[in-house]
Amino acid sequence: MGQAQWWELTVGSALNVIGDKWTCLVLGGAFQRCQRFEDWQRLLGISRSILSKRLQWLVDNELMYKRPYGPSGRRHTYHLSRKGLDLYPWLIAAWRWERRWADPRGSTVAQLHHQTCNQPTQPILSCAFCGEAIQFADIDIRPPEPSGDGGANDEGAIAEQDYRRRKLVRPRAQDSGHWARVFATVLADRWSGLIVMTTFAEEQRFDDYCRQLGIATNILTDRLDMLTEFGILHSEPYQQGAARLQYRLSEKGEDMYPIFMMLHEWADHWLRKPSSPPGNAFHLSCGHRLRPQMSCSECGDALDARDVSFVQGPAGSGSAIAE
Ligand SMILES: [Zn+2]
Ligand SMILES: [Zn+2]
Repeated sequence: MGQAQWWELTVGSALNVIGDKWTCLVLGGAFQRCQRFEDWQRLLGISRSILSKRLQWLVDNELMYKRPYGPSGRRHTYHLSRKGLDLYPWLIAAWRWERRWADPRGSTVAQLHHQTCNQPTQPILSCAFCGEAIQFADIDIRPPEPSGDGGANDEGAIAEQDYRRRKLVRPRAQDSGHWARVFATVLADRWSGLIVMTTFAEEQRFDDYCRQLGIATNILTDRLDMLTEFGILHSEPYQQGAARLQYRLSEKGEDMYPIFMMLHEWADHWLRKPSSPPGNAFHLSCGHRLRPQMSCSECGDALDARDVSFVQGPAGSGSAIAE
């Protein structure tokens, strides 16, 4: 199994579960203490039917659970499970990226405040073993070692999800300043995620993507156009005067690696079957098997959902997750 297939099994599977713009936004709302239907509707302006489907999807995938409330007991509140709460570092990594790269005009991305040290914090991807910040060049990702029972060849190694083919919804211009909307539309899309992951290792040509990902050419063209449009990929002809292009990540694209490392970590923990090999990435600086975490820029502690609050951003429009 090559690296691309390994990404496919972990990150690909994770994106099957959360790979949809509204699912991401509903999850984000849950971290902002939305529990009742009305809370999400107020935060996201989401329609009742879309919200109801996404909440049920999150319950079916065990990221959330529901509790009856009210006199009839027919209404429910929704709560994050441990599996759902564990997505927090991924969400924080996405917040960090969005905060760094969002168009400042009209951006309403809020500040994060770490209550443990009582400071505004900038989350940093760090190694849980040595505590150092992790640069992408410091990570050695090797193909997984085959396990004794041939698990490495088990294509269903990660729990198979009922992957619904979702239509890609392009962000509208008026969404540009909205936290998570571009992120959720670009990166919650399974194919876009896999294209970015594949390009981390080295620049890729159209045929490389087709071969490694088994992606249909029309879908690939669409996603490459979108990622280039967002400034995440750069393209250049790979022979002088040739019409064919090769793609590499821009600085903005490379800076997404904490998002993928945290998603990979989550999938490795929650979606991998016991029979399949564990992640095989190492932190080169300390030599230990990689256990990435998002930690506080000020005190160095790992950031936990219970100890972090979103403070209103400069543009003053409230919540970090929805806006
Ligand atoms: Zn380390
Ligand atoms: Zn702190």
